[in-house]
Amino acid sequence: MSDIQNHLEVVQQRIANACKQVHRNRDSVKLLLATKTVAPNRIQEAFKIGYTLIGENKVQEVKEKFDALRSTPHELHFIGHLQTNKVRDVLKFGVNCIQSLDRISLAEKLHQRLVSENKTMTVLIQVNTSGEPSKFGVAPLDAVSFVEQVSSYATLKIRGLMTIALFSAEIEKVRLCFRLLKSLQNQISRLNLPGVEMEELSMGMSHDFETAIEEGATIVRVGTAVFGSRIYPDSYYWNEQTSADHGSL
Ligand SMILES: *Cc1c(COP(=O)(O)O)cnc(C)c1O
Repeated sequence: MSDIQNHLEVVQQRIANACKQVHRNRDSVKLLLATKTVAPNRIQEAFKIGYTLIGENKVQEVKEKFDALRSTPHELHFIGHLQTNKVRDVLKFGVNCIQSLDRISLAEKLHQRLVSENKTMTVLIQVNTSGEPSKFGVAPLDAVSFVEQVSSYATLKIRGLMTIALFSAEIEKVRLCFRLLKSLQNQISRLNLPGVEMEELSMGMSHDFETAIEEGATIVRVGTAVFGSRIYPDSYYWNEQTSADHGSL
């Protein structure tokens, strides 16, 4: 068995155990593979054993992997900071969902392109539940009004919320981030906004996805636990200062 297959079995078991803890159905949690820096042949390996939901952080990587992955049907979510000048490429290179919608200028730009291409896009709203200034996302206090504003763009299908929790060894602090996202989901659901559905909560990564599942995650985004550690620090992908695309890896 390959290392990827081994790791996937371990992750599956962890997901199943977490679901059991809180009496959730295993089917209520989707496993998204975070494939940043992972080469297409390794992603194809995961596809072959049935894992076809992936997430990329950079438009440049989406473009580079497009040809090598297109032979296998799969679902591609964008989970990184999206610059408005990359919107055209996101639509061109097969992204099925943008999980990181976090500003009106981006919603506006997406809407314009989608209208002109006669398309729609599924989106999740990224919320900065940790309050760390280095992380992207709408402030929790602004989340409800942000969703209301975005819901006026008919091309954008809001399907839920996404967050990157606090990085901390203190799991109860991490849990508060997940709980906050869940409470925002409930709050927004109650508004019954036209065209807005709140079925997805994308939260939890390699080191904290069990807690996220306990708090209601429907999508967990797992990279390291499946593909091993990356050479680039995550700050390269997440921090304001370094988030500009630096070209190919
Ligand atoms: C890299 C990444 C993940 C996965 O992180 P791991 O710790 O490798 O599991 C999840 N979400 C986002 C937004 C990421 O950039």
